[in-house]
Amino acid sequence: MQSAVIGQCRLCLVDGKELQDSHVLSKWTYKRIRGSGLNPNPVLLSNGRAVQTSEQVKERMLCSDCEQRFGVDESYVSGITYQQDGAAPLLDKVLRLHEMGPDGAVPAYTATLDWEKVLRFGTSVLWRSHWSAHAPSCSLGAEHAELFRRYLLDEIGFPEDAACVLIFVEDAAGHGSPVNLFCTLPVTTTQRDCDTHRLMVCGLQFEFATGAAIPDAYRRNCLARGNPRLMLLVTSDMTLDWIRPMFEGVKRLGSLARQK
Ligand SMILES: [Zn+2]
Repeated sequence: MQSAVIGQCRLCLVDGKELQDSHVLSKWTYKRIRGSGLNPNPVLLSNGRAVQTSEQVKERMLCSDCEQRFGVDESYVSGITYQQDGAAPLLDKVLRLHEMGPDGAVPAYTATLDWEKVLRFGTSVLWRSHWSAHAPSCSLGAEHAELFRRYLLDEIGFPEDAACVLIFVEDAAGHGSPVNLFCTLPVTTTQRDCDTHRLMVCGLQFEFATGAAIPDAYRRNCLARGNPRLMLLVTSDMTLDWIRPMFEGVKRLGSLARQK
């Protein structure tokens, strides 16, 4: 049995807590991806390497109260994203607005989605990854890490100089997507006055922007402030522009090295 690790919880900042071995990306994602395809283990993109692995990315950073705090949002998102049978319960609630949005994405509206839970889920994965040694491609900077920490604790609203656009991948209405079970840890792209942070979890893609000069498109479609709150539906080829370079630039290990 592993001995307990006592320290300061990264979220509530209380000292002397027993720190849990917390998943950076929710535990349910590993369970869901496993069992699909020939290799039953999920693809993990980490440290510039792609490897199919059963290893789960964990960090000792949260006390048990804070870990449970995240659990509510995690189980909600688990229930609406792509399942192992290829269906996404979220799409049953969607009203397609049938107008082309930015870059050919189709805005969709749903009155019954719990947007706040979805936003908190994406933010919590981003914030945990910022602190994780296993997610070197993700960095919020000290100021935004602190603002997101306080937002996740319900001390403040969603930070003013941040935005989050929600995207769902669907190749044809009712036909799912070939990347339905794909998951990534967040990837930060640094620009002059604005950083973007992307992550994908079983069809759901979060695009965060943080900084002084957030592009209008992010503000307009922000999950925290948009009115009405919209989600963008895109085909998988539109997501591959950022996922593909991760695969092309990385060293493939294990069974992936033998795949074309
Ligand atoms: Zn705590």
